[in-house]
Amino acid sequence: MVVEAPRRPLVERQLPDPRPQAGEVLIRVHACAVCRTDLHIADGEIPLHKRPVVPGHQVVGVVEETAGRRFQVGDRIGVAWLAFADGVCRFCRDGLENLCEKGLFTGYDRDGGYAELVTADERFCYPLPSGYPYLSAAPLLCGGLIGFRAWRMAGPAERIGFYGFGSAAHIILQVARNGGQRVYAFVRSGDREAEQFALERGADWAGASLEPAPEPLDAAIIFASAGELVPAALRAVRPGGTVVCAGIHMSDIPSFPYSILWGECVLRSVANLTRQDAYDFLELAPTIPIETAVETHLLRDANLALDRLRSGAIHGSAVLTIA
Ligand SMILES: [Zn+2]
Ligand SMILES: [Zn+2]
Repeated sequence: MVVEAPRRPLVERQLPDPRPQAGEVLIRVHACAVCRTDLHIADGEIPLHKRPVVPGHQVVGVVEETAGRRFQVGDRIGVAWLAFADGVCRFCRDGLENLCEKGLFTGYDRDGGYAELVTADERFCYPLPSGYPYLSAAPLLCGGLIGFRAWRMAGPAERIGFYGFGSAAHIILQVARNGGQRVYAFVRSGDREAEQFALERGADWAGASLEPAPEPLDAAIIFASAGELVPAALRAVRPGGTVVCAGIHMSDIPSFPYSILWGECVLRSVANLTRQDAYDFLELAPTIPIETAVETHLLRDANLALDRLRSGAIHGSAVLTIA
């Protein structure tokens, strides 16, 4: 399935089988989880870098052929959003390959996993944790990895708020609870199903995102893409609290009084991920163990999955099943 033009449905295309170049693997895709970034790409909220492009950056499958050394044919591996970093720019040298000047991204600069076959640079692939079937592993690769980076950026917190309770939040809630944090889930006003889902998954409190928090939070992560959540989250955190914006795109942030930032509150974004984030998270996941709630769709029904994500109907992660 490809994005040919922004703001149009994805279309099914027969493309030539990709061939692995030196240092790459050819992967037979078993499943690919759907990310809000895929929606931003399809909806033209972030500009296309190539067209057509096969979206999908939470790819899990099996190595079918290798032109590298790291993996064997038959290995179960995953591909995430970061597809390449040059290793030499000032950001890479500072351990910030997520900001690499030459960075490339899966399902955006390179064709991704809404497909039967994909090639990837073997240095940017990850062995899947054992014990995770493909379907449960796929959402770990972005919702998990970038959510984990955002969670680390939020710093130590006894009380942490999650704005938007979708794929990333339902995964990172388990990391937070494992670390002894109290989790407050903020969802769209009136979305009782989302509140219920958050409570079932272990949130300590769930309520409407634009309402005041029941008690001052130490940190908040904004997973949703609505700019109005930024002032809401700043109002919810205590002095010195941190608000992390975890998405790649957000609607404009309404102006807000300086008083809600004053008091040494920190407002920051998280961009992309480093391979170290991935190694750390994929090592941690089976020790908790993190469980993902997935609804599955066939690859050819990718538009339906994206529509359900757009309308907020998905509780947990949507995963496309392929092989
Ligand atoms: Zn670089
Ligand atoms: Zn993503």
